[in-house]
Amino acid sequence: MVVLAGMTVRVAVVGSGIAGLTAAWLLDRAGHRTVLFERHQRVGMDAHSAEIPTGPSDVGVDVPIRVFNRKLWPTLSALADELGVVSRPISVASSFSETTRQTFFRYGTVTAAKVSFPYVPPRYLSPRALAIISGVAQLRLAGGLDLENGTLNDRPLKAYLAEGEYSETFVEDFLYPAIGTICTCSRDSVAEYPARVIIESLFDIFLAGRLRRFTGGTRQIVRRLVANLPDVRLGTGVQQVTASDDGVDIKLADGVERFDHVVIATQANHARALLSPTAFAPEHDALERFRYDQLDVVVHTDRALMPRAERDWASVNFFVSPEREQAASTLWVNRVEVEFEGQSPVFQTHNPLWAPEANKEMLRVRLQRPVVNADSLRGYEMLQALHREPDRRIWFVGSYATRGMPLLESGVRSSESTVAHLGVRAPWSTPS
Ligand SMILES: Cc1cc2nc3c(=O)[nH]c(=O)nc-3n(C[C@H](O)[C@H](O)[C@H](O)COP(=O)(O)OP(=O)(O)OC[C@H]3O[C@@H](n4cnc5c(N)ncnc54)[C@H](O)[C@@H]3O)c2cc1C
Repeated sequence: MVVLAGMTVRVAVVGSGIAGLTAAWLLDRAGHRTVLFERHQRVGMDAHSAEIPTGPSDVGVDVPIRVFNRKLWPTLSALADELGVVSRPISVASSFSETTRQTFFRYGTVTAAKVSFPYVPPRYLSPRALAIISGVAQLRLAGGLDLENGTLNDRPLKAYLAEGEYSETFVEDFLYPAIGTICTCSRDSVAEYPARVIIESLFDIFLAGRLRRFTGGTRQIVRRLVANLPDVRLGTGVQQVTASDDGVDIKLADGVERFDHVVIATQANHARALLSPTAFAPEHDALERFRYDQLDVVVHTDRALMPRAERDWASVNFFVSPEREQAASTLWVNRVEVEFEGQSPVFQTHNPLWAPEANKEMLRVRLQRPVVNADSLRGYEMLQALHREPDRRIWFVGSYATRGMPLLESGVRSSESTVAHLGVRAPWSTPS
C-alpha cells in the first residue's frame, strides 16, 4: 500500500524503546492515527529506571545508564534538540583492574581550547600501561587509515588484530573488556564484531572525552516523545501479527485489531515470535540473523565491586580476566548523574564478579543486546530489501536494524529511515 502525501493511515507501533517511540512520534506528528503498544507496564525505554533514596528524597536513575555525544549520535541529538531536552558533559575517566580489584591502568581526559585528550596520570605509567597506550595509538592510526581507505571490508575484529600484530596486553587488558562493556557482549562476540564498526565508533566513545548525559536522564526524552501521543497502551503485549489484502491484524489478549501498517519495534528475536514462520518465511530468514547476548545489571552500594583503592575509582571501572566470558564493569553513578554528586556512592555493575552484599543491592535486571557480525549485517541488508517491496505493510525498526553499533542513535536512525517509506520526514535534516 503506497501512502500518498496528505493521506492518513492507521498505524500500530509495537514496542516503546527508543525506536518505537521515535517511529510513533514521527508518524503521529505527520497526522497518522498511531497506536503504541508496550508489553511492560512502563514505557519500554524507561522500563527499568529506579528510584534511589539519596537522603531527603528519592532520585531517579536510568538502568542502564546511557550516554551519547553529538558526533557519534547526531540523529539522537537532533531529536533531543527538537524536543527541547538538554544535556551536559560527563566525566569519562576509566580504570582497569585485576579481578583482585588491584588497579593497573587508569586514564582521564583533559580539555584545552575545547579539544579533549586522554591523559594517563604518571603513577599509572607501567610497562603494561605503555603497551596499552601504544596499542591505542596503533589502532587509532592504522585503523583510522584503513577506515578512510575503505579496506576493512567488515572483517572480524579478531582477524584484523591478528594481522596487525597487536600486543596481547592491549587486546586482553584493554580492548576486549572495553568493547565487551560498550557493546554489552561476550568475548566471542567481541572477536566477531566487524573491525569497521569498532574503529568507526571506539575513539568517539572512549577516548574523545566528549560524552554527555541528558539532564534529568533518558526519561526526559521518553516523557516528551509520549506527551502528545493519543493512544499509548502500556501492559499490552501483542501476541501475533498477521497480514491480509487490506490490512494487518494485531492479536491482543482480548481480541484482534486491524491497522493499515504495523511497525514492529521490538528486538529481532521478539519480532520473529510475532510472525508465523510459514506465512513470513523471508522475514524469519532475515530476523534469525540477529543474535543477542545477555547481561545482568545490578544497582547497589557495595564498594567491594569497585577498585580496592578509592583513589583509583573512575566513572567506569573495568575488571579484567581472560577467563571470564563476559566483561565486568562498575559505573560510579555519582560521577555521571548530577543529582548524586556529594551523596554516598551508588553503583551500576554489569556482570558482577560476585553478588553485592544482599542489603546493598537495590535492583537487578537481565538485559539483552544485539551482536553485530557478518550474519547480522546480512540480516540488515535483507530487511532493507523487504522494506523496498511495493505493497509492504509490516516494518521492522530497532537499534539492531542498522549497520553500526546498536546504540540509541541506531534506534532513532532506523525509525527515521523506515517511516520515510510511508512518506514521513523527520523535522531535522538527516546528518551525514
Ligand atoms: C547495558 C546497556 C548499556 C547501554 N548503554 C548505551 C549507551 O550508553 N548509549 C547508547 O546510545 N545506547 C546504549 N545501549 C543501547 C541502547 O540502550 C539500545 O540500543 C536501545 O535502547 C534499544 O532500543 P530499541 O528501541 O531498539 O529496543 P528496546 O529498547 O529493546 O525496545 C523494544 C520494546 O519492545 C517491547 N516489546 C517486546 N515484545 C513486545 C510485544 N509482543 N508487544 C509489545 N511490546 C513488546 C519491549 O518490552 C521493549 O520495551 C545500552 C544497552 C545496554 C543493554
